[in-house]
Amino acid sequence: MDLPQTLVELRKLLASMPGISLRGAERFLDFWWREDLESRKKIGLFWNDFTKVARCESCFYFVERGRLCQFCQNENRDKKKICVVSSAFTVPLVERQTSYRGIYYVLDGEIIGRDGSKQLLTVKKRRDYLKNRIIKEKLEEVIIATDYTSSGEATALFIKEEIKELPVKVTRLARGFQSGDILSYSDPVTIKKAFESRSLY
Ligand SMILES: [Zn+2]
Repeated sequence: MDLPQTLVELRKLLASMPGISLRGAERFLDFWWREDLESRKKIGLFWNDFTKVARCESCFYFVERGRLCQFCQNENRDKKKICVVSSAFTVPLVERQTSYRGIYYVLDGEIIGRDGSKQLLTVKKRRDYLKNRIIKEKLEEVIIATDYTSSGEATALFIKEEIKELPVKVTRLARGFQSGDILSYSDPVTIKKAFESRSLY
């Protein structure tokens, strides 16, 4: 006799996420089961709202209303500089820790996994679209801000190889980071310094 079907499905969904085991999924559900009904209803509502969050048509960052995100529609941002990140969650981090006022470009993945995997296909599509934008919008600088893990480095190289023939400056945040570093876990001072002293890649 297993759990009720709803819980089996939820457990399966949670356990399909990277880094979460079946046991981890059960602990998560157990935690919320002990909360009162109102709190549980609240997460349900938030999950429902999550389905309403869309992607910016230009940079693929989160957008709650309209077609373009807060950065792409802001006239005070420097539209000639574009910062390429693997995850949309890196954007607020760069905003908080640095004085960068260009725009962003979200890959929504890294060069990892099987050929033909969904993630790989997305990154390839995003790379092609970035190439078009570089040419069409005459971008001046592409700042590659992927992680310093092996997949993050592979992604940085993958992007660079494809755009190195185009008339655009390609830079990478190097200073202060070591192999294996994940941007989100790095300290604010390192990120700030690395951004300010980014070098040609
Ligand atoms: Zn955008």
